[in-house]
Amino acid sequence: MNLYELTIKEARSLLDKKEISSKELTRSILDRIADVDKKIGAYLTVTEESAMAQAELADKEISNGNISSLTGIPISIKDLICTKGFRTTCASKILEDFVPVYDATVMKKLYKAGAIIVGKVNMDEFAMGSSTENSGLQITRNPWALDRIPGGSSGGSAASVSADLCAGSLGSDTGGSIRQPASHCGVVGMKPTYGRVSRFGLVAFASSLDQIGPITKNVTDCAILLKTISGYDRNDSTSVPEDVPDYEAALEQGLDNVTIGIPKEYFEPEGLDPEVSEAVQSAINVIESLGAKCIDVSLPHTEFAVAVYYVIAPCEASSNLARYDGVKYGFRDKEKDDLIEMYRSSRAAGFGPEVQRRIIIGTYALSAGYYDAYYRKASQVRTLIVDDFKKAFESCDVILSPVTPTPAFKIGENIEDPLAMYLADVFTLSANLAGIPGMSVPCGFSSKGLPIGLQLLGKHFNESILLRTSYNYEQVAGFHKKRPNL
Ligand code: GLN
Repeated sequence: MNLYELTIKEARSLLDKKEISSKELTRSILDRIADVDKKIGAYLTVTEESAMAQAELADKEISNGNISSLTGIPISIKDLICTKGFRTTCASKILEDFVPVYDATVMKKLYKAGAIIVGKVNMDEFAMGSSTENSGLQITRNPWALDRIPGGSSGGSAASVSADLCAGSLGSDTGGSIRQPASHCGVVGMKPTYGRVSRFGLVAFASSLDQIGPITKNVTDCAILLKTISGYDRNDSTSVPEDVPDYEAALEQGLDNVTIGIPKEYFEPEGLDPEVSEAVQSAINVIESLGAKCIDVSLPHTEFAVAVYYVIAPCEASSNLARYDGVKYGFRDKEKDDLIEMYRSSRAAGFGPEVQRRIIIGTYALSAGYYDAYYRKASQVRTLIVDDFKKAFESCDVILSPVTPTPAFKIGENIEDPLAMYLADVFTLSANLAGIPGMSVPCGFSSKGLPIGLQLLGKHFNESILLRTSYNYEQVAGFHKKRPNL
């Protein structure tokens, strides 16, 4: 077996037994990146030198017996998480040369756990998109079909895990950006409960929806990485002082007392590909055969999620992105000597079309006279969506559904049609609007050989039950073991 293929858990065991060194493991990943990433385009920055230096240190720690969850293990980071000393571009021209002077809290936690950072990976610009095609810097391809999108906006993260260009990755999810690319690339992704993971140092897109989470090769690794990054942080006033359970310990429990809710509204949308719905249905059957009880539940306001999200997210984005004005940091048009002209032209040149579209929509919806009709109305309907979940979770522990209506589409197929792109989010947005945890696990392949994901949603702060359910399923289904041919 090649070292770059190892999961986090496998690497941990071999490192601890000193059968491999972190230097060998990290070298193997870096060589694989040099070999294969020309085809994929996952990495925006490879931090080779510092990764090898970190690996050398990790080997010393291991020989001294100072071992943490990720000591010596190579991880990639979505390029909107601030990394001190390494550029953090948000895949935007406006931040192309931005080097943060501080680390995000999740980075501090990763370093403390001994992780090796191999680089920063591509995404839709400022995390706005579902295909990574909105990156202002480069295209990322799906490792399973190079003419297709990897999903978005954490496309670089999912592609880098799927193509064995790292052992695990961190992404962010505002409306599905961890779950969708995980589903399209045949890997595992978890959006934790809002407040579970600190957002300090995560470049803000829509602050009431954003969460950082893991993307990994299997459920066990997801549990390990989630535990490492979770927990209260005084630097993020929305992080919650809840105990972080031992997620790995929860995995082995069976499904006998678990009730699964199947929301009919998630199987009705017109654009739902029959192959996706079949794969999800057979996964539900497997989970039922493992002892879980399945019942029907209803989430009646699902049909409004896309409209609500595409008002609230752009509103928050228009406010958050006001800080990129060419004055404090980022790109500045130096030709202009009038201040307003300089703002205008720096923002026009620095932001790509999707980001500009969202800023315009958000500014419009927040403006006097429209605020009540759009933002306030959307917030009210958001509450109805929250209530739908509260009600559904009175009778079940986990809700199962598809992640996306179709498997990965062709690069360029939807780029001219923003609405079609927004509709791809129909199954993932509600979890962010309600703040509940959600994950995606591989549940099959289309007739074209494209991965399909199963979405699991749970109650606030009950990531454990999602991990436990998906782990039991994964052990039987085994789809995570198939790797793309590169
Ligand atoms: N696809 C959604 C959007 O474009 C969600 C993106 C995300 O989760 N960051 O806004």
